[in-house]
Amino acid sequence: MDFTLSKEQQDIIKAARDFALGEFPDVALEFDRNETFDLNIWKEACKLGFVGVFIDEEYEGAEYGFLEHCLITEEFWAVDPGVGQAILSTTFGSELLSLFGSEDQKQLVLPRLVSGEIILGTAITEPGGDLDVTLATTTAVKQGDKWVINGSKSFVANGTLAKYMLVFCQTDPENPSQQEQHSFILVPSDTPGYESTKMRGKLGLRASDTAEVSLKNVGVPLANLVGKEGEGFQEINAFFDRIRLNICAQAVGLSRSALVEAIQHTGRRHIFGVPLDSFQVTQFKIAEMAIRIKAARNLYYEAAWSLDQGKVDQALIGMTKRYCAETALYCSDEALQMHGGYGYIDEYKVQRLYRDAKALEIYEGTKEMEMIDNVIDLGLM
Ligand SMILES: Cc1cc2nc3c(=O)[nH]c(=O)nc-3n(C[C@H](O)[C@H](O)[C@H](O)COP(=O)(O)OP(=O)(O)OC[C@H]3O[C@@H](n4cnc5c(N)ncnc54)[C@H](O)[C@@H]3O)c2cc1C
Repeated sequence: MDFTLSKEQQDIIKAARDFALGEFPDVALEFDRNETFDLNIWKEACKLGFVGVFIDEEYEGAEYGFLEHCLITEEFWAVDPGVGQAILSTTFGSELLSLFGSEDQKQLVLPRLVSGEIILGTAITEPGGDLDVTLATTTAVKQGDKWVINGSKSFVANGTLAKYMLVFCQTDPENPSQQEQHSFILVPSDTPGYESTKMRGKLGLRASDTAEVSLKNVGVPLANLVGKEGEGFQEINAFFDRIRLNICAQAVGLSRSALVEAIQHTGRRHIFGVPLDSFQVTQFKIAEMAIRIKAARNLYYEAAWSLDQGKVDQALIGMTKRYCAETALYCSDEALQMHGGYGYIDEYKVQRLYRDAKALEIYEGTKEMEMIDNVIDLGLM
């Protein structure tokens, strides 16, 4: 396999890096401290074509592969994970809509995500929830020509910003197969009964919106069912195959940033009268970070390339996410350690990286779930 990126891919990387370096550094600390974000930066990113590049041309996307989306993600996260997340998560769910949505649904949502007119979200997790999504209890009942939805969702990215939310609902509780009880429904957030409340106090990724969503007798047309009734569980799996890959790129971008912070700080800081990076133990730590980043990136390049060839290798994607997230945790921890007490202060970027990294082991499948998936794949369970 040839891992050399094409000229076009290299140009995408450079453009994404230049944009992020121009827009993120001056505002990142303020967004992190105040849990805010300036949507004009997202709009500018859309204008320049960085958002939803994997969306088909007929819906105004660039119709690149997931690899190109990952390359942009890596560059944005290498400059600032929180701002990168606030911008690129605005299409969260478009992968699912592209795969399973009706023509009308795709026309309604996808072009407006690319142009920066609207934001999308996907609500699966529930407050009393379980990693077993087949136990989700938010209900959608057919009444006349409507679905009437009742329930609560938590940790929903873009919860207070999204114009549309893809809500994972139990539509057939009597079905003997637990895996055929759920469906996705596209819900406009201005429908009466839909309420969202921002969740404050996140450890990291604080520029990005996360909310609780409450649905009380929310009525939407039957035509808002996404895909086939009862196939929500299968649709989640296909959706996760794609978005997990993106998390790998997030992790590699964050790890790169930690490496740069470590190299710069240890070159500047003098201890016992010599630069910190003149000690072999420091050099070994930096070398170890670089090795893991290279391995993580090669893994996600392979997984993204395979997906873009139409080969969905769930075990590879699960292993890759597990390894990439662990790499981000490792690199940000080591980089903070090399900063000593300064690393503990939020004026130093490394503190933010350390906090941002933790989400990678939790969302879109916890690290334990990725192990369980692999154990199943290896035939051990
Ligand atoms: C920043 C952020 C953004 C998010 N965005 C979204 C979003 O947009 N939409 C959405 O629907 N959700 C979102 N989530 C939710 C996220 O996907 C869940 O938090 C995650 O899936 C874990 O579910 P839980 O919090 O209910 O943990 P629990 O299910 O309560 O799990 C707790 C712990 O138990 C472990 N565990 C569970 N089962 C086993 C087992 N069999 N063996 C061993 N260990 C096990 C888990 O791995 C975990 O470590 C987001 C979360 C965060 C932090």
